Amino acid sequence: MREPVQLTRALADEAATRRAGAELAAALLAADLQAVFVTIAGELGAGKTTLVRGLLEALGVSGPVRSPTYTLVESYHAGSRQLHHLDWYRLSGADDLDGLGFRELLAPGHWVLAEWPERAAGVAAQADLALRLDYHGAARQLSAAALTSRGAAALRRWMEGIA
Ligand code: ADP
Ligand code: MG
Repeated sequence: MREPVQLTRALADEAATRRAGAELAAALLAADLQAVFVTIAGELGAGKTTLVRGLLEALGVSGPVRSPTYTLVESYHAGSRQLHHLDWYRLSGADDLDGLGFRELLAPGHWVLAEWPERAAGVAAQADLALRLDYHGAARQLSAAALTSRGAAALRRWMEGIA
C-alpha cells in the first residue's frame, strides 16, 4: 500500500455511533466491494454492536439486530448480499472459527463484520478494515485503519463522504 489510510473521529452519543455505521455502509457500497472483512475492537459496551446496527439498518435490514454473543454469528440478507455479524467474545481461538466454517464466509457476495477480533488475532489480521471504539468520557472515539487495498478503497470513500 502507498500510505496508511486511517480515520479517527469522536462519537458524541449513540446516534453518532449508528451514523458511523451507516457511513461505513455507504462507503462499502461506493467502493463497490463484493467481499469485505471488517473487525471491530473495543471493550464491553464500547458500541461495537450499535455500529453494526447502524450499518445493517442503512443497508435495509429490517427487524431486530441481536448481538451474536451466544450464537457467535447472525446473518442477514440485503439485496443480493449476505451480511454476517460475528462476535468472537466466547471463542477460545482460531481453531474454533475453522470448525464454524468461518473461511466460507469470506467469499464474493458476503460481507463479514466481527466483534472481539483479539480472540482470534491471526484470523483478524486478514481483515480489510480494522475498527476500534474507545471510551472517551461518556462518549466514544472511533479509529479505523485499512489493512488491504480493498479496505483502503472503502476508507477513502468514507473520508470523502464526511469531508
Ligand atoms: P458492545 O457491542 O461494544 O459491547 P453495545 O453496542 O452493545 O456495545 O453497547 C454500547 C452501549 O453504549 C449502548 O448502551 C449504547 O447506547 C451506548 N453508546 C453507543 N455509542 C455511544 C456513544 N458514542 N456515546 C455514548 N454512549 C454510546
Ligand atoms: Mg457487542
